[in-house]
Amino acid sequence: MCIRDRFELAARDSLTGLYNKRFVLNELENHLRIARRSNRVFSVILLDIDDFKLVNDRFGHLAGDDYLRQFAGLFARSLREQDIAGRIGGEEFLVILPETALDGACRLANRVRTSVEEFVLPLADGEVRATISAGVCQYESGFQDAREFLARVDQALYEAKNAGKNNVMRVSIPVPAEE
Ligand code: GH3
Ligand code: MG
Ligand code: MG
Repeated sequence: MCIRDRFELAARDSLTGLYNKRFVLNELENHLRIARRSNRVFSVILLDIDDFKLVNDRFGHLAGDDYLRQFAGLFARSLREQDIAGRIGGEEFLVILPETALDGACRLANRVRTSVEEFVLPLADGEVRATISAGVCQYESGFQDAREFLARVDQALYEAKNAGKNNVMRVSIPVPAEE
């Protein structure tokens, strides 16, 4: 295995093949630096599978893993080549969308939401269906760091869950202007 393949493997989540948490958070820092320097637009989607615990409870953890694998493939097919998608928690994913403003990011999140809603994983003893909720946020120059960016998109995800799940919410809190 060559060095490049090893680096590539180290950046991947072994279950889904998407990028891992460390890699995607590092990419977020890089994109923040670039955006600050050059006024480039980018957005982030944080998405979480709704009621995934129930999927495990009903069908078992292995079926849950199988669903996560298929879900990741489905989800990756909705993205463009430059988008960076990573698994940052058990059933929680972060996508960085370079050169994408809030409206475009919301459209993409809704496209993913619809395709997940329509997706069915057949099993010997039934079928797995799930939905996702997502928070969407565009970079603003008032953001201090990746933590603040993530806190805002996490708040939008929380609102999407509170609104009844299977929902996409954009960050609505005004960001204070830079001093
Ligand atoms: P919510 O709609 O609020 O997100 O509900 P939820 O059930 O998805 O959320 P909660 O955080 O309560 O539970 C997440 C579940 O995801 C719990 C755990 O069993 C499951 N999970 C996390 N990681 C994995 C994994 O790698 N494989 C499988 N099969 N299940 C996982
Ligand atoms: Mg969940
Ligand atoms: Mg979760």
